[in-house]
Amino acid sequence: MSVPGHKHQKQHSKMVRAVLRDIANQLQHPYQEIHHRFTQGDDDQITSLFWELFYKRYAEHDALNDVYYCPGCRSFILETYVP
Ligand SMILES: [Zn+2]
Repeated sequence: MSVPGHKHQKQHSKMVRAVLRDIANQLQHPYQEIHHRFTQGDDDQITSLFWELFYKRYAEHDALNDVYYCPGCRSFILETYVP
């Protein structure tokens, strides 16, 4: 179910999924398992590998440093978190 007036940048989800595929290839685990571990959160190995491979693939997007998953839309959102 998606919320009206609630939009995601499709590009963000494509970027995140590409990195999850990189992780799956590197660890030689199925993509679905990596996706599950990533979206359930709190998996330190996957999270740190995600950012390492994200910046390798998208060096020009080094301002982005936060990611979350919208289960309603099955979309990923990338943001810049400023503490
Ligand atoms: Zn959403």
